[in-house]
Order: sequence, then C-alpha cells, then structure tokens
Amino acid sequence: MAGLKNIAVSVSSFVRNWAKVDIKSVQLHELEESVRALGEPVYHAKQIAEWLYKKRAASFDEMTDLARKLRLQLAEQFSFGKIDVVRVLGAQDTTRKFLFRLSDEALIESVLIPASPALYGMRSDRRTVCVSTQVGCAYGCKFCASGLEGFSRSLQPNEIIDQILAIEREAGDKMDNIVFMGMGEPLANFDNVMRAIRIINARWGLSIGARHITVSTSGLAPQIRRLAEESLQIRLAVSLHGASDQVRNQIMPINRRYNIETLLSACDYYALRKKQHLTFEYILIEGVNNSDEQARLLARHARRVKAKVNLIPYNTVRGLPWTRPSQDRQEKFLSILRAHGIATTLRREKGHDIDAACGQLRLQTKNVGQDSGVLLS
Ligand code: SAH
Ligand code: SF4
Repeated sequence: MAGLKNIAVSVSSFVRNWAKVDIKSVQLHELEESVRALGEPVYHAKQIAEWLYKKRAASFDEMTDLARKLRLQLAEQFSFGKIDVVRVLGAQDTTRKFLFRLSDEALIESVLIPASPALYGMRSDRRTVCVSTQVGCAYGCKFCASGLEGFSRSLQPNEIIDQILAIEREAGDKMDNIVFMGMGEPLANFDNVMRAIRIINARWGLSIGARHITVSTSGLAPQIRRLAEESLQIRLAVSLHGASDQVRNQIMPINRRYNIETLLSACDYYALRKKQHLTFEYILIEGVNNSDEQARLLARHARRVKAKVNLIPYNTVRGLPWTRPSQDRQEKFLSILRAHGIATTLRREKGHDIDAACGQLRLQTKNVGQDSGVLLS
C-alpha cells in the first residue's frame, strides 16, 4: 500500500510540474511581477536572471543569495527544466551535432558550427548554433529528414534556450550566432520562438544581438508578415528550393497553400518594413531544381526582393531518393546567378560527414540505434 501511495504522489506532482511554466520561458518583467506578488523586492528578479544566464545555475537551490523561503516559493511556481545530451557527433572540421532528450523523452537535435561561413550577413569567424523549434515537422518537404516521421509537438521557449545553454556548456565557449534551422518550422511555433528570441537577445539573458539571430522558414507567408511587425531586427532566411510553382509543388507541399507569388510578396513586405536583405536558401537537388532555367528564374525572384542566395548541395538522407548535383553543375548554377548580379554563396558543405541536415541524426538514432558517434548515455 505504501508503495502505491508513493506512486500516486509522484504522478500527481509530475502532472502539476507539467502544467507549470518553466523559469527559462519567462521574461524579466514577468519574473519581476511574480517576485512582487510574493511580497519580495523586485531586484530579486534580476538576481534570478543572473543565476540563470550568467552563472548558469541548474536549480533554484544553487541561487544561494536568495532566501531559502523564496527559493522554495519559486520552485512551487516554476519548473526548472533541463535537457540531456544523448549523443554528440563531431566532423573532422569540428562541426558538432548534438542529440538531446527532452523531459518527455522526445529527441531533438542541434548543430554547433565553430567558424561559420559568412552567411546571412553575419561575420565569418563566429560560433553558430543551429537550434530546433519542434519535435518533427508537419510540413513534409520531400527531401527533408525532419518531416519523414511527421510532427509530434512544438518546443517550449525554455527547450529552445536549453539547447544553446547545453552547447555552450559542452563547448566551454560562448556562442555568437543563432540560426533557427534545425528540426521544425519556426514560424509554426511563432509565440514560443519569439519568446525564446527575446531571451536570447536580452541583456539580462544571453545577450546576442538581433542581427546575429536568423529565422528560417519554408514559406509561411502570413507569419512572415507577422514577423515583419516585430520590433527586433532579426534576420530572415526563406527556404525556396524551387523557382517555379511546378518545381516547388513537387518537393514542398506548403507551396500549394502559399505559392511563389504569395511568398514573394510577403518577402517584399518583410524587406521593406525591416529595411533588410533577406536570404533565399536553395538546396541543389540533381534533376529536380538545378536546371539553367531554374537558376534564371531564381535570379529574377532574388532581384525582385533584393535577396541574397545561399546554395546548399543536397545532403543525402537515408531512405530518400535524392542526390546532389556534380560539382560542375553546382558551379554552373552559381555562375548563372552571379552573371545576373545576385550575391550568391555556394556552401561547400560542412558537416556532410555527420549527417548535418536537420532531422537526420534523430532519425538515424531511432532507426538504427547506436551505429556511429559518441554515445554519452
Ligand atoms: N523549417 C524551416 C527551418 C528548418 S530546415 C525551413 O524549412 O526553412 C533548415 C534548412 O535545412 C532548410 O533550408 C531546409 O530546406 C534544409 N534542409 C532540409 N533537408 C536538407 C537536406 N537533406 N540537405 C540540405 N539541406 C536540407
Ligand atoms: Fe519542415 Fe523545414 Fe524540413 Fe520542410 S525543410 S520538412 S519545413 S524542417
């Protein structure tokens, strides 16, 4: 009987915890309100933020300059999540990929790129983290590992923040750039992503400048317009991958909802409103989207919205039929864009050897188990 009672207690506390907001999901002003409501001086909120984002405390207990009573009250009110590193895969050029387990056992992945190529207008000598925003993805692009197993759920803001904190801890280094290009569609998890971005950007948080934060979208036109209304000058990358509706429809189901014209007009709006150049990402897939004609059409779209183009040779995904074009074909595609005066980079892929494209490590781990890489737990 005693055993049963214990189980009942732990289940109910789990349910209660589950419903709590995580401390790393709240903004400083919300924390101040909570502290004030507890009858404590508001400056404690700044102390808490400092414990979280500067001293990197892993529990309320570690916040030793707060009274024990306040620490207990905070623990009553907020959960204090953590994510576990399950695997780390490192490429020779030290691009590293992390597989994380969340509190509900869901798996997500993030990538650390130590000296990133000069992409999205950011400097090239910076450390970049690529974060996930959802478990799986509902958009089902035909070439992408994240969409293969469908969609489970959106991440909470703290689960996004924790990816960065965990990688900084593992790397022993502060990150300079954050790109939302891991698993999931960031603009389909708009509120949580914006909440996380505000924490990443805040001086009391991770203090990373808005221009060092890039959100990538598969083309959710209405949310692009919504993002344009946000005050932060974050950067936008649009996954185009096809320059005509015919090609894009084949590989990106989202295009049937928001076709290229609708998407371009949202991009126009974003660029004008933010006075900013956005980036078109374009994966080169052999025989699908790499014809000369697609290159010329892409150049026309890029000129219209003053976008830069980032060409990415396709990373093969086990179980999918697509391949990357030959080096010659890649260079030819690049030269057509450049001949049209479009600022274009061709990613000489980092991390190809660690399955760096989003969703691949998770898929590999779930399907095959422990084949390569470092198993940490
Ligand atoms: N859902 C968002 C962000 C995550 S995907 C989006 O689609 O933009 C991040 C980028 O990785 C996208 O440009 C996506 O198209 C690209 N990608 C997906 N699978 C890939 C693969 N196998 N090889 C190369 N890039 C890939
Ligand atoms: Fe989802 Fe982006 Fe992958 Fe498409 S490319 S399935 S939107 S994660």
